[in-house]
Amino acid sequence: LFYLEEPIGRLLEAGSKLQIGLAAVRRLGEVEQMPTEPAPANGVAPTAVGRGATRLVFEDVRFRYGPDLPEVLRGVSFDIPARGMTAFVGPSGAGKSTLFALIERFHDPSSGRILMDGRDLADWDLAGLRGSIGYVEQDSPLLSGTLRDNLVYARPQATGHEIRDAVARTRLDMLVDRLPDGLDTVVGHRGSLLSGGERQRVALARALIRGPRLLLLDEITSQLDAVNEMAIRDVVTTVAKTMTVLVVAHRLSTVLEADRIVVLDNGTVRAIGTHDDLVVSDPLYAEFAATQLLIEESGARQDTPW
Ligand code: ADP
Ligand code: MG
Repeated sequence: LFYLEEPIGRLLEAGSKLQIGLAAVRRLGEVEQMPTEPAPANGVAPTAVGRGATRLVFEDVRFRYGPDLPEVLRGVSFDIPARGMTAFVGPSGAGKSTLFALIERFHDPSSGRILMDGRDLADWDLAGLRGSIGYVEQDSPLLSGTLRDNLVYARPQATGHEIRDAVARTRLDMLVDRLPDGLDTVVGHRGSLLSGGERQRVALARALIRGPRLLLLDEITSQLDAVNEMAIRDVVTTVAKTMTVLVVAHRLSTVLEADRIVVLDNGTVRAIGTHDDLVVSDPLYAEFAATQLLIEESGARQDTPW
């Protein structure tokens, strides 16, 4: 699986549904059962990943997808403290999703370092590292099986209490009450029983059940209506009190909740700050904010380069 996907991925058009689906399946599947743990570069046994929110540092990270391809991250540095929400904004193609893929070590930097709790990602036990990261993307697929199967996929040993807690946090309790067999209702291969917003909340609940130290949310609300978006935003702000949360977001409503905003453009960090700082100091951010405000006020669908 690990070796096949690169060529397959390259064959597919960037952004095609198929590629998005493949990435999601790869992430879901590989996380618990990584067969190809690379040997640590320094020959030292990998360290088990701890618990609790984690600090995340990028040190001059550079990355390209292939030797003949342009650099996608061109010297990215930032220091994100444990706990709190950090929003990444920037035009499409800026490198936001790539940054998340590097954090999960689907790729390693060409140069520079990524540190969790002061330790290079390459030194952590890979399965443990991935097990401690919750990742949700736009359009999360459901797996065949019941709602419960979908929730505990990444952590089959989850207790009833942990499941109920995640269900309540993501406000899925009303859905569970409505389904004929509750948690044991078969929701799908494609999960057509559930709305897009419900599927995204299931994906978020699944990520929470694994008890992550770091939650990576890549455009998880971009396809959702305002009600679902607000529900998810509430959950995320709450969990950010105890966890390190990174979101790629377009909606100003989400970005405004962030403790800090990282503005990425063409593989570089343009600015880091709060909304109030950046609106004044960074013209690209100001443009982003103005565009989003117009979109949100007019109720129009997202259709901008952001
Ligand atoms: P964003 O999430 O900010 O829209 P991405 O991280 O998806 O940006 O992409 C950054 C750049 O890397 C884009 O130019 C994109 O085309 C390129 N890219 C993304 N994935 C791949 C890949 N698997 N192979 C080659 N290039 C890629
Ligand atoms: Mg992206």
